[in-house]
Amino acid sequence: MATATFRFHGELAEFLARGRRGVAFEQACARAATVKHAIESLGVPHTEAGRLTVNGQPATLSRIVREGDAIEVFPHVAAESAADEVLSFLADAHLGGLARLLRMLGFDTLYDSAIHDREILALAARERRVVLTRDRELLKCREIMRGCFVHATKPEAQLREVAARYALERHMQPFTLCLHCNLRLEAVEKTAVTGRVPERIAERYAEFVRCRGCDRIYWPGSHWERMREMLGASLGARVPVR
Ligand SMILES: [Zn+2]
Repeated sequence: MATATFRFHGELAEFLARGRRGVAFEQACARAATVKHAIESLGVPHTEAGRLTVNGQPATLSRIVREGDAIEVFPHVAAESAADEVLSFLADAHLGGLARLLRMLGFDTLYDSAIHDREILALAARERRVVLTRDRELLKCREIMRGCFVHATKPEAQLREVAARYALERHMQPFTLCLHCNLRLEAVEKTAVTGRVPERIAERYAEFVRCRGCDRIYWPGSHWERMREMLGASLGARVPVR
């Protein structure tokens, strides 16, 4: 056993027992426990740890905890993990609203209301998707290399959290994915939609896109405008037309 002092900063406190929030506290750790194991046994999923220090020096989650260590763990800071890579996501079965908003912004987001945790773990291990969940036990699984605990309960607030953590504004391509199938929409000739959309819509709009999965036709009508406004309000940023 090694007894170390832990201190968790910012929103990480929410994962801790009440008396341990916002203060440094001592904890005995299993022999040869890594920092990852130690913080997870305290309730904090490894995916939520951003920068961490041991005795004031930068450290990683694989560091073995030694007697007398002072360990400080900080949450991810906005956009810290946002390289130039465009991220794709996997939303758990409870985050359908968030998945839909991410698709509206053009982010490839797998979602199935019947998905089982086993499938989430298999997909997470196979694809480099960020697993979005409010289930901290799921995030503790070692298959999950990239995960994000979503604190908020309302989809728009959840989107704001995810957008801030991954700097999503830089990569959004609104209205390029089917909201139902998560497939990329393809432009279709106006003649191809005749009879498929109301006549006044066909007259008024020049651009139409189609999902090859479900064959739905989309156009930049008032519903897109409403979605843009809602997304803009929830991100606190301007959402481009497309
Ligand atoms: Zn579709």
